[in-house]
Amino acid sequence: MKTLKLKISPESPEMDKIKQAAEYIKSGKLVAFPTETVYGLGANALDPYAVKKIYIAKGRPEDNPLIVHVSSLEMAQSLVVENIDAFEIAHRLWPGPVTLIFHKSSVVPSIVTAMMQTVGLRFPAHPIAIKLIESSGVPIAAPSANLSGKPSPTEEWHVVEDLDSRVECIIQGGKTLFGLESTIIDMTRKKPRLLRPGPVSPERLKELLPDLVVSEAARARAKYDGPALSPGMKYRHYSPDVELILVEGNPFDSFKKIKEIALQSNRKTAILCSKETEMLYGKGFEKIVLGSREDLYIVATNLFSTLRELPGKGFDLLISEAFPEKGIGLAIMNRLRKAAWKVINTD
Ligand code: AMP
Ligand code: MG
Repeated sequence: MKTLKLKISPESPEMDKIKQAAEYIKSGKLVAFPTETVYGLGANALDPYAVKKIYIAKGRPEDNPLIVHVSSLEMAQSLVVENIDAFEIAHRLWPGPVTLIFHKSSVVPSIVTAMMQTVGLRFPAHPIAIKLIESSGVPIAAPSANLSGKPSPTEEWHVVEDLDSRVECIIQGGKTLFGLESTIIDMTRKKPRLLRPGPVSPERLKELLPDLVVSEAARARAKYDGPALSPGMKYRHYSPDVELILVEGNPFDSFKKIKEIALQSNRKTAILCSKETEMLYGKGFEKIVLGSREDLYIVATNLFSTLRELPGKGFDLLISEAFPEKGIGLAIMNRLRKAAWKVINTD
């Protein structure tokens, strides 16, 4: 299949190209597009045949539901049973990097929701995403635009690497802002539940939802072995092509452990660390600085691109430090734990 590539400005999208991509969506084709979180692989959410193609292109298990993207509260309302107007969080955080789960209305095909009666909705804030949905005139189902299991794409070439010749169109709209997937909250329970931490911190969410339950599953700690609360949780995600070891626990012992593993390894090893800790390792180690512990948003933006790009640079063992689980740090640790081939806890 020949993939049409459309270079579109993220600040002021060229409408002729947006319309071209929208025609693809309307005729049941797949279009990869940027959002403020990561790139998504979109299809008309109301067309089960188009949605089926997403699963095939990504190699995604069909019991892993898709998030539906909308460009207005009215469009969101048409897809769910609840009265969206009654949910303050939708008014406060949309458009933005938050997915809310509601009971689905009958117009949502069951292939979108993996046969469940609930649907995840997001109103993205990215100009290209909004214009694409508006021009298509339909909600767009879109998981991350990577092959299943790989790190989510944050740069246009990540999408091309995974999906060229597997999808009809790729919009190339620059680097994504947050670099991590949306925060997911299940609004169908008595108490709202954080299923996946993301760019909006749990501290901010608790201001809007004082009852919010943050489960151990959302942290993705290795010791969690309860049922999968969100279907996608049971799959290994975001994995780089080479072994990734995450070392967490008390900082001093973790640091010693990372050095010990790196010294014993006879593979080309990279240590993923922070600006503050880089100096501690001394010479003789390859250190990749993800960002500062004081600005975890930068660490988040760099995480997936680093996991994707280091294997291509010849590294065949990655060892990562842990990051503080505050603010977006909870999402960073969730992704690192899920991506890791092995988690070592020095506590
Ligand atoms: P992705 O868009 O690839 O980041 O994946 C979407 C994720 O959203 C899935 O893996 C699920 O964990 C979650 N999700 C989507 N819809 C639902 C739903 N109706 N109930 C629970 N989780 C959902
Ligand atoms: Mg994904």
